[in-house]
Amino acid sequence: IAAGEVVERPASVVKELVENCIDAGAKKIDISIENGGITSIRISDDGAGMSREDLTRCILPHATSKICSAKDLESISSLGFRGEALASIAAVSTMHITSCNGEDSYKLSAKFGTITDIAPCGRARGTTCEVLGLFENTPARLKFLKKPKQEQAEITSAVISLIFSRPDISFTYSADGESIFNSGGDLYEAIYAVYGKEIADQLIYHERETDGFVIKGYLGKPGFSKHNRNYQTAIINGRVVANSTISIAASQAYGGLLMKRCYPVYVIFIKMPESDIDVNVHPNKKEVRFKDVNRVFSAVYRFFESALTLEKTHLDLSAENEEK
Ligand code: ADP
Ligand code: MG
Repeated sequence: IAAGEVVERPASVVKELVENCIDAGAKKIDISIENGGITSIRISDDGAGMSREDLTRCILPHATSKICSAKDLESISSLGFRGEALASIAAVSTMHITSCNGEDSYKLSAKFGTITDIAPCGRARGTTCEVLGLFENTPARLKFLKKPKQEQAEITSAVISLIFSRPDISFTYSADGESIFNSGGDLYEAIYAVYGKEIADQLIYHERETDGFVIKGYLGKPGFSKHNRNYQTAIINGRVVANSTISIAASQAYGGLLMKRCYPVYVIFIKMPESDIDVNVHPNKKEVRFKDVNRVFSAVYRFFESALTLEKTHLDLSAENEEK
């Protein structure tokens, strides 16, 4: 895997670093960026932390604590598994990682992948990764980036997905010193914190188990939709994935309820056997492949269809009651 495939832009750095916090069992994650993440990205967690030895290894290529044998690849439950992210990020930036595993605390500094310093420091259990001057040594890639505001928008959208994937974790997110989100609680509270009241009010909750799939989450009421797919999030076995099968199944279930060029809004969790999906398809781990696409399609379709039918029955009944 070439380094560029994992860290294309600041948003991919944020995603990889936050995934590491989640894998470390964090309950609180603080994200702050400056200048669209190009000047600095700082991510703190209260997770397991690292020993001095692990700290010096973590930025080496292929260093991972998450799999022990090739067999583990068949059932990946952590978000990371390739040991590629920190190495790729460190190679193109100045990094400071401070970590405490409950016993010792150390601060590691590295420039363009080479360790420049490691020294004891004081901090509570957890890890802070600071990435400064991203792509400073690769001017071609720096030039390829969009304007800071657009890079920030990409980061925001990555942060939203991460917040939805783990509503139980408290997140704070700020850009250039200004607080953007402050979330924590349940999924509804996360949606409320991110999308606001207007959208949260238009959603219904539904849960359904079919054919080995458990699907639950929020979806737009029958008349509610958006002009783009930005309000669609599917989390499969804890991982936010981009997959058109799910989006198409949702649109088809809404059918005539959607106006032309409108898309349903949803944040859903899908639980399915690990062995039915392959996440080892693309370096960004966002794309997945299903063993049986039709089964996934029909489970998702039926989830939406049953939610919408229930809601319509409910609406019809209340209209009838009102008439009476
Ligand atoms: P991967 O997540 O695929 O294992 P990474 O390059 O993202 O690879 O991280 C390398 C290793 O560094 C991880 O396996 C983990 O042991 C350690 N690590 C990284 N970030 C953290 C963190 N926030 N807290 C604790 N350990 C971490
Ligand atoms: Mg990782």
